[in-house]
Amino acid sequence: MYGEILSKISKLYPENEREILERAFYFAKEAHDGQKRASGEEYFTHPVAVATILVGLGMDYQTVSASFLHDVIEDTPVSESDIRDNFGDEILQLVLGVTKLDKIEFKSREEEQAENFKKIFVSMAKDIRVIIIKLADRLHNMRSLNYLSHERQQRMAHETLDIYAPLAGRLGISQIKCELEDLCLKYTDPEYYEYLSVNINDKIHERREFVDFVVNELKKILKDSNIEGDVFGRPKHFYSIYKKMTRQGKSLDQIYDLTAVRVIVSTVDECYELLGKIHKEWKPIPGRIKDYIAMPKENLYQSLHTTVVTSVGKIFEIQIRTKEMNHTAEFGIAAHWKYKENKESSDAFDKRLSWIREVMEWQGGLSNSTEFIESLKGEVYSTEVLVFTPKGEVISLIKDATPIDFAYRIHTEVGNKCVGAKVNGKMVPITTTLNVGDVVEIVTSKLSKGPSWDWLRIAKSPGTRAKIKAFFKKAMQADNEKLGKSMLEAEAKNRGYNFGDLLNPVSFERVSQRLSFSTYEEMYAAVGCGAVSVNQVLLKLIDFYRKETPVPEKIAETKYKKSTEHAGGVKIKGFDNFLVRFAGCCSPVPGDDIIGYVSRGRGVTVHRRDCPNMRNEDPARFLEAEWAGFTGSYNVSIRVIGGESTPVLVYVSNACTSLGLFIASVNGRIDSKNHQSIVDFTIRLNKKEDVEALFTKVKQNKDIIDIYRPQT
Ligand code: MN
Repeated sequence: MYGEILSKISKLYPENEREILERAFYFAKEAHDGQKRASGEEYFTHPVAVATILVGLGMDYQTVSASFLHDVIEDTPVSESDIRDNFGDEILQLVLGVTKLDKIEFKSREEEQAENFKKIFVSMAKDIRVIIIKLADRLHNMRSLNYLSHERQQRMAHETLDIYAPLAGRLGISQIKCELEDLCLKYTDPEYYEYLSVNINDKIHERREFVDFVVNELKKILKDSNIEGDVFGRPKHFYSIYKKMTRQGKSLDQIYDLTAVRVIVSTVDECYELLGKIHKEWKPIPGRIKDYIAMPKENLYQSLHTTVVTSVGKIFEIQIRTKEMNHTAEFGIAAHWKYKENKESSDAFDKRLSWIREVMEWQGGLSNSTEFIESLKGEVYSTEVLVFTPKGEVISLIKDATPIDFAYRIHTEVGNKCVGAKVNGKMVPITTTLNVGDVVEIVTSKLSKGPSWDWLRIAKSPGTRAKIKAFFKKAMQADNEKLGKSMLEAEAKNRGYNFGDLLNPVSFERVSQRLSFSTYEEMYAAVGCGAVSVNQVLLKLIDFYRKETPVPEKIAETKYKKSTEHAGGVKIKGFDNFLVRFAGCCSPVPGDDIIGYVSRGRGVTVHRRDCPNMRNEDPARFLEAEWAGFTGSYNVSIRVIGGESTPVLVYVSNACTSLGLFIASVNGRIDSKNHQSIVDFTIRLNKKEDVEALFTKVKQNKDIIDIYRPQT
C-alpha cells in the first residue's frame, strides 16, 4: 500500500537522506496507528499523499520528512522534543510551522482581504517550505473533500480559492494552483462544473482532429528547421475557462483555446527561431504575441505566446518554451530545490529569483536574491506584525507594537479616546506586545480626556508618538507653559522648596526618562494642561534633590502646613491644592456657578459662569471649578442707585445690620446730569443667599432705583 512512496524515495534521494526519510515514514506511521480519516481510510494515507505530492515537486528531504510528520504534534501524543531528538531542529521547525498555520481560520472573501490573509499566512511561516507543505496538505484535503459535510466543503473551497490557490500562483506552482482551482469549482459551482466537464470533453473530442493537425504541422516545422522539440496539445484547466466564460460573458463555443498547444525546445534561441518560423507559416493575430522570456511574469513564468490563424481558418494559441522554463512554469519556487544539486543552474535560478522581491512586495527591504533565499528560511517579517480587527480586517503594525499603536492606526480619535484593549477577547494591559494573528479590540470612552503622557513610552511606532504629541501640542498652548511653571513653583513652595533649586539639567534628565519630556517648556506645558500632574513631576524632582541635598524634615514640614491654611475655597477639577484668584469683574461668591479661567501669565482666575467678560473667551482656557470646603467670608461688590437725595448709605447699612453683614468699603458719587446718587459698596458676607436677602431688604425702600452686582 505504501510501497510506491518508499520506492520513489529510494530512487530519488541519496543514501543518507533516504535513511532519515524512511525513519520519518515509520515514525509517523506508528504515531497515527489506529487513526482513521473521514473516508474511513487509515489516517496515515494522508501524510503519505502529501509527501508524494512534495516528492513530485522535487522538494528536499527535510520538507518531505516534515510532511510525513506534519500532523503528529496536533493529532498524536508525540511531543516536540520527540521530533527534535529523532529528526533534529530543522525538521521540527517545519512541522511546527505547518501546525501553526493550521490554526489560522480565514473568513473574509473580499479580494483585498484575501491578499492580506496571504500576508499573514506567509508571515507566520518563517520558512517558505512550510507554505509549500501546507499547499500540498491542502491539495490532498481538497482531493478528498467529498467525505466532509456540505458546510465544511463550502468553507474549505472558498478559503482555497481566496488564499491557497492564489498563493500557489504567486509562488509559480501552477500545477498545484490549477488542480486546486478545478477542485474548488466542483464545490463552489457544481452545476457549472458538471456542464464544463461534459461539454469541454465533447468539444475537445470534436476538435481532436484539428488539434492533431496543428500538432503535426508544428512537428513538421520543427523538423524542417532542424530543431529538436516536443509538441503537446493539452486541455486547459476548467477554472480558467470558467473565469473566461463568467467574466467575459462568453459561451463555450466562443472560446477557442480550450486546448493549449505547447512546444518544448532546448534553448532560448530556438524559442525565438521557432516563433519566426510559425509566423511564416500562419498569420499571427496582432497584440497576441507575448514575450515572457524577455519579461518574465512576477511568478517566474517564462514562455513565448502567440495566437495564429491556421490555414484552415481556425484560431489557435501556441506556447513556446525551454525545458527549464516549462519546469519553472509547473513548479515555480519549488523548482529551487530541484535545482539545488546543480550549482550552475542553482545560481541562475537565484538570479531569476530576484523578481520575487516584487512578488512578495510586502516583505520589502531585501537587497539581493541571495538574501532573499536566506530570508526564505529566516524571519522575513521581522519588521512588521500583522493583526486583526474584530471585523477581520488585517492591520500591519511595526514589530513589538502595542494596543496603543493599533488604536492610533485605526483612527486618531480611537487612539485619543482609548481607555483599554482586548486581545483575543481578553482585557490586557495597554503595554502588551502584539503578536501575528492577534485579534485586537480597543475600548474607548467618550469621557476620556485624551492620551496619557505615559503612552509616549508605550507606543512603538514613531507615527503613533507623533499623533500623541500632536494631541498634547494642541492641548498645550503657550500659556500652559506659564501656568505649568507657576503651578510647579507654587506647589514646590507649598512643600518648602524653591523650585529653582530643584530643577537643573541633571534632575530634568531624570524626570524625562520617566515622562518623556524633551524640553523644559514641554514639561511646563504638560503640567499646565493637566497631561501630567504637578506631583508626578515635583515628587521626582524632590526625591532627586533630597538624595543630593538632604533637607531638615522639620523646616519643610512647618512651611508646608503654613501655606495650606491659605489654600482651599475653590477646587479646580484635576488639580490638587491649586491657588486661584477671584475675578474682580464678577466677584463670584460661594454658591455661584463658577468656572476657572486660565489667564495669560496669571494662573487661574475664578469667574461666575455667566460673567459677560467670559462670553467671548476661548473655551479651551476654561477649567471646571467648584466651591469646596470654604469656611471664611467673602467680599462682594454691589452698586446701589438712588435719587439725588436718597439716603442710600443709611438704607444699606440698616439692611446689613439686620442681616449681620459687614460693610468693608463705601464709595459714592452724585451723577448730577441724571440726578442720581451712585454708591458702590464692598460687603463681607458668608453665603450666597446673603446677597439676595440684602437686595430684597434694600429694594423695600421705594426711592431706590437699582441695586446690582456690577460687572466691570
Ligand atoms: Mn494534514
